[in-house]
Amino acid sequence: MKNYKISKNVEEFLNGEVKLFIGGKFVKSESGKTFGSINPANGEVLATVYEAEKPDVDKAVRAAKEAFEHENWSDLTTLQRGNLMFRLAQLIEEHKQEIAEIDSLDNGKPIHEVLGNDIPNAIGQFQYFGGWSTKNTGQTIPVSNESFNYTKHEPVGVAGQIIPWNFPFMMAAWKIAPALATGCTVVLKPAEQTPLSAIYLGKLIKEAGFPDGVVNIVPGYGDKAGNALVEHPDIDKIAFTGSTAVGKAIMKKAADDMKRVTLELGGKSPNIILKDADLDKAIPGAFAAIMANQGEVCSAGSRLYVQREIFGEVTEKLTEFAKKVKQGPGLLQDIDMGPLVSKEQFEKVTGYIQKGINEGATILTGGSHSDKGFFVEPTIFTEVTDEMSIVKEEIFGPVLVAQPFDTLDEAIEKANNSPYGLGAGIWTESNKKAHYMIDRIQSGSVWVNCYNLTNPAIPFGGYKQSGFGREMGSYALENYTEVKTVWMDLS
Ligand code: NAP
Ligand code: MG
Repeated sequence: MKNYKISKNVEEFLNGEVKLFIGGKFVKSESGKTFGSINPANGEVLATVYEAEKPDVDKAVRAAKEAFEHENWSDLTTLQRGNLMFRLAQLIEEHKQEIAEIDSLDNGKPIHEVLGNDIPNAIGQFQYFGGWSTKNTGQTIPVSNESFNYTKHEPVGVAGQIIPWNFPFMMAAWKIAPALATGCTVVLKPAEQTPLSAIYLGKLIKEAGFPDGVVNIVPGYGDKAGNALVEHPDIDKIAFTGSTAVGKAIMKKAADDMKRVTLELGGKSPNIILKDADLDKAIPGAFAAIMANQGEVCSAGSRLYVQREIFGEVTEKLTEFAKKVKQGPGLLQDIDMGPLVSKEQFEKVTGYIQKGINEGATILTGGSHSDKGFFVEPTIFTEVTDEMSIVKEEIFGPVLVAQPFDTLDEAIEKANNSPYGLGAGIWTESNKKAHYMIDRIQSGSVWVNCYNLTNPAIPFGGYKQSGFGREMGSYALENYTEVKTVWMDLS
């Protein structure tokens, strides 16, 4: 890699056989089949990974079920479980450079973003939920002198977790940490595009001393490994993050045996700048809201609404920012933006840009892309209408559509004019206006004078077709908890 030396450990990991993590062991797939994980900065194979299919998923679920029912996991005290999670957090800290290199190579994202955001956030998940493992308490509920009533919070059982490729390591942590805190065991399927850091996490889980089978990791394709998890009778709960289309299909299938389901799905999130906003904050904020992580963020502020009086100034400055963005392989320290994750994603995003042009939108900047690697320039469209596909559909790339508005109610109506409801931004110096909009915007998160902040203690999730259930915060415990009610007759 030009200008960059990869850690020796990472080089060995990438050149070795990347195996499935099942029952505490790294094993080949039953079929012996492998697939290549691609480096999107050059389109070349980065590592060869064993591919999990149904027989491997069956094996992993068996291991998770045994760990849940018979082995050491359920016998551990809640404090011991929490301590294992703290130990894991510490190991991630110690290995953060390797993990960052792996995610940057596998996904394409700038390494400084992985080190500055994804990894501290992932560490925080294990620290935060490690703390919850001793605190997931039920209630005692007074009814009468003749009965003693209380609730117990019990783990759902074996959780099947399916994650996307945009924050590979961080998404794994978002999923695994709350499940472990409640006492569940896990079979995790990372995205086929970015399986490597999850397997690396498996090494650290083993090193931390978790009992075998508590966490199992099965890289493979959605329609095989993912589907095998969804259909498996011994999976008690599916936690899925990904596209709305796949989320709907999973929900239908899970109905067959009434698996518990939580879904974190797509978005087309509005970001609204009022004319009284502090533009020195709002303009760079709105730019990062869509362009960070190459625009591959479920809650990206992809629809920008700007009050008419300042529309020209805002779009002009955004265009200047876009022109200054330096693109290159994620491992180079001085780049702002890496490539998109895959050829498929590259084709999807460039297809949308072409569609926007064909539909008659005006392109202020960007639109071009590379021949080698999957780089797409930050792109800004204006003169768009609500009917255009670039305004309605999730692009999941560095493409912003900007529209002017006149009144607050008009901005709210436009913001809510979407089947999604994941995130929303409001930029204003008026508390009164901010609250007026907060109350009326249909969205799981609202950021005021900031955007896309997350924290392990703060819930995150969607309204409408952006899914249901909340990751993070105490709310995430509910995703993995059954409530048992106990009545004891005292009469
Ligand atoms: P995707 O195609 O839905 O894939 C997500 C995961 O589901 C992958 O692991 C995928 O496997 C697997 N999968 C695909 N088909 C499946 C099936 N039939 N049964 C079971 N699993 C299946 O989404 P993506 O393109 O990777 O990710 C981008 C999407 O995720 C966007 O819509 C984005 O908004 C959403 N997202 C949401 C959040 C949130 O918190 N709300 C966060 C991040 C991303 P393979 O790809 O390996 O085949
Ligand atoms: Mg890759």
